[in-house]
Amino acid sequence: MKKKVKAIALLSGGLDSVLAIALLQAQGVQIIGLAIETGFCSLPKNTKTSPEGIEDIAKALNIPLRIENIHEDYWDTILNPKYGYGKHMNPCMDCHLHMVRVAAEVMKEENADLVVSGEVLGQRPKSQLAHQMKIILQESGIEGRLLRPLSALCLEATIPELEGKIDRSALKGFRGRSRRPQLQLAKDLGVEHLAFAGGGNCYLTDAVFSARFRDLLKQFGKENFPREDVRLLRIGRHFRISPLAYLIVSRNEEEEGLLQPYRQRHLTFDLENIIGATAIGLGSFGEEERRTAAKILSRYSKAKAGEEVKVIMREEGESIKIPVKALPKDDVLPEKLRVGG
Ligand code: SF4
Repeated sequence: MKKKVKAIALLSGGLDSVLAIALLQAQGVQIIGLAIETGFCSLPKNTKTSPEGIEDIAKALNIPLRIENIHEDYWDTILNPKYGYGKHMNPCMDCHLHMVRVAAEVMKEENADLVVSGEVLGQRPKSQLAHQMKIILQESGIEGRLLRPLSALCLEATIPELEGKIDRSALKGFRGRSRRPQLQLAKDLGVEHLAFAGGGNCYLTDAVFSARFRDLLKQFGKENFPREDVRLLRIGRHFRISPLAYLIVSRNEEEEGLLQPYRQRHLTFDLENIIGATAIGLGSFGEEERRTAAKILSRYSKAKAGEEVKVIMREEGESIKIPVKALPKDDVLPEKLRVGG
């Protein structure tokens, strides 16, 4: 019996990766789905009402799924992207390359014939232009074994196509930003119920997250960037108090809880005599910075403007009480120091 072609297919949960897989399945290619966790994306989660979770999608496609966590290695890709950043802190070219390299490793481990990606030529200006896709191909180390089924007819044929193991004429030649051909193909392949356009949610493309990331990079540099705190960039209101002092203030009770695990290794600010927010500080806070932090915290309390508020700063088992007059709600100071909206 003829051996089936076996492929490792990158599966983001977005429509294009689903289509690339379904298109190859239609011609009998055996697929192993590969979802990659960078630590900066949330893989689509399983929900009760729709099959948008990555595992549900793999199940619906009837393929096994491998999830690879590359968080540690990914730091070098973010901090030193050879091909630079997109509009925000998204190093899309380097990121794609990183993912294809991971897929190439999995391809070897699984004794597969090729790697499959749902990229569409010209769809994303930062990583899917023709020359960029060629660079990714060349630098991936698997030239001839990286297939993009949705744009295959606009690209050089892969080895399995040249060997006649994959029917090139059944692949597509999509290019450009229009989603219409993909939506039609989803209908034709009967996978429109899996057609969630977004896929994983990448924080690196988020303006607020990126502004905070850049700001902290300036303070700590690449070497000392507090990697273990990167999730904090998604929590609370952020303030640049001074070049060495950065403050994160909770917005609600839920965020207070989310800040909790970080309190042990950072200095903290809490209101003593009034209900309000809580904060943690990154960096070093001298007397002036402490007072500014306390004033900002007072703004997010129930205190009336001018009322005396006591803020307790705790650091390494020691605590200092900082009395301040509460800022009025419309004081310009918090907005002036705010990072990332
Ligand atoms: S959007 Fe995010 S996950 Fe996607 S390629 Fe760019 S950096 Fe990577």
